[in-house]
Amino acid sequence: MAGEPQSDCLFCRIVAGEVPATIVRETETTVAFRDINPQAPTHVLVIPRVHYPDAASLAAGAPTVAADLLREAGEVAAQEKTDADGYRIVLNTGAGAGQTVFHVHAHVLGGRGLTWPPG
Ligand code: 5GP
Ligand code: ZN
Repeated sequence: MAGEPQSDCLFCRIVAGEVPATIVRETETTVAFRDINPQAPTHVLVIPRVHYPDAASLAAGAPTVAADLLREAGEVAAQEKTDADGYRIVLNTGAGAGQTVFHVHAHVLGGRGLTWPPG
């Protein structure tokens, strides 16, 4: 069912503490941890504790948690001190856009020059 933990989902297993991660912030509804393969000096993933495959389904099924996710992305940027120089929040959606883990996650990227368009 939407929102329920999935035993075969890597990020549900991180939420459950079954897979280790370097956690930088936690709230009642979200967990933020360092990406295992960082693409910038700050590269943190913010995920909801509930399982939804992507940002749009989270926003439709649990809108307050979607808001929590975005607020926490900002809190991570502030905690990492990347907020003054600018940072990027990325929500890859679908395999064709590079999504590899189908538990919604916001990438928070910062700490280096971020060009636009990203390529
Ligand atoms: P996507 O490509 O789906 O937008 O992003 C998935 C991200 O999860 C990738 O940046 C990848 O490096 C990261 N990732 C994959 N497996 C793990 C893991 O076991 N631990 C952590 N911390 N990050 C992971
Ligand atoms: Zn999941």
